[in-house]
Amino acid sequence: MTIDLEALYIDLHQHPELSFQETRTAGIAAGHLRDLGLDVREGVGVTGVVGVLENGEGPVVWVRADMDALPVAEETGLAYASTATGIDPAGTTVPVMHACGHDMHVTAMIGAVEKLVADRDDWSGTLVVLIQPAEEYGAGARAMLDDGLLDIVPKPDIVLGQHVTPLPAGTIGVRSGTQMAASDGLTVILHGRGGHGSRPHSTIDPVVMAAATVMRLQTIASREVDPRDVAVVTVGSIHAGLKNNIIPAEAKLELSLRYPTDEMRDKVLASVERIVRAEAAASGAEREPEIRTDHTLPPTINDADATARVTSALQRALGETAVIDPGMFTGSEDVSWFARDTGAPLVFWFWGGVDPARFQAAMAAGTLDKDIPTNHSPFFAPEIHPTIEVGVTALSAAAREFLG
Ligand SMILES: [Zn+2]
Ligand SMILES: [Zn+2]
Repeated sequence: MTIDLEALYIDLHQHPELSFQETRTAGIAAGHLRDLGLDVREGVGVTGVVGVLENGEGPVVWVRADMDALPVAEETGLAYASTATGIDPAGTTVPVMHACGHDMHVTAMIGAVEKLVADRDDWSGTLVVLIQPAEEYGAGARAMLDDGLLDIVPKPDIVLGQHVTPLPAGTIGVRSGTQMAASDGLTVILHGRGGHGSRPHSTIDPVVMAAATVMRLQTIASREVDPRDVAVVTVGSIHAGLKNNIIPAEAKLELSLRYPTDEMRDKVLASVERIVRAEAAASGAEREPEIRTDHTLPPTINDADATARVTSALQRALGETAVIDPGMFTGSEDVSWFARDTGAPLVFWFWGGVDPARFQAAMAAGTLDKDIPTNHSPFFAPEIHPTIEVGVTALSAAAREFLG
C-alpha cells in the first residue's frame, strides 16, 4: 500500500479548518495512522490525534505536526485554492486558508510514518505521533498536555517537529539554541469618557489615547532595546467607536510581542505597562487601563547535542549543503511545551517550499520580502514537489537518528 501524498495534500488544502475545529483533518490523519498499524487516540486536547507504534526496546521519539488553518482569503490562483469558510470564535463567518502550511505538515507526517512503518525491521523503539490542533492560537499543545497526554503515551527521549517556510525547496534551516522567539499576546482596554463628538472638552477621548499609545509603543523596540538585541512590539488590532459624531467610552488594542529571552520579555512587558498607564494618565483617564495576557509562548530552544545529531542526519539524507542556519525567527511556536513539560530535548527545523529558481531570482533582485510570500500571506503556496518528499525524508531521517 502506498499513500497518495499529493492527493492528501490537495484534499487537506481544499478543506482547511480553523483552530480547535479540525475534526475532518483529524479524522483523515487518524484514519491513515490506523491503516498504518498505529494505536490511535482521537480527541486529545479537543481535536488532537495521538498515534503510537511500539517497535521493541529503545528510545521514545515524539514527532509532532500541527493541523489548523487561518482566517485568510486565499489569493494564490491555484487550481486547488481554498474557497472554504468557517465560523470564528466571535461567531463571524470568515474565509479559511492553509496560509501557514499546516496541511503540508500533516501530509509530510503521514508520509514519514508510512516510511518508518515500512522500515520497522531496521529500527527499534517507540514512535509517538502527535497531530496537534490550534497552533495558531498557541493553545493546542497545552490543550493536549492538559488533557492527559502523558497518561496515554510514554515520556519522550526526544521531541521533533518541522515547519514549512519560504526557503528554497530542498533546503532545511535549523540552528542550535533559540530557533524561534517567545511571544505574548496582550489585550489592552483604555478607558475614557464618552460623549458628543461636537463637545470633546466634556469627554476623555480614548481614540486619541489609543493613537498616542500605539505611537509611543513603537519606541520600545527603537529606543529602549539595545540595537544588537531583538524585540518586536506589534499592535495588530485597534477598535474604538461606532459613529463619527460619538466619542466612545473605551478603546481596545491587541498586541503581539516577541523576544528571544526571558530577560527581554520582562523588560518589554514592563515597558508596555509603563507606557499604557502613562498615556492613560496623560489623557486624564479616570480609570486605570486594563492589560490582559491572552497567551504566552515560550521561546523554541533547540537542544545543542540533539540538534547536532539531527543536522548530520539531515545532511546525510538530503546533502551536505541542504542544511543551513536560518538565524532566529521572530515567529513563535507552542511545540516546545511538549519538551518543557517532559524535560526532553527538542529539535524543531524549517523546510523550504519555494521554487529554488524563483527564490534565487528574488534574492538576486533584492526583492525577497516583496516577491516571496511568507506564512500567513494570502499568496502563500508551497510547491507540492519536492516539498512533500523533503518533509517526509527530513522527519523520517531525524526520527531514525534516535531510533537506530
Ligand atoms: Zn502560522
Ligand atoms: Zn504555522
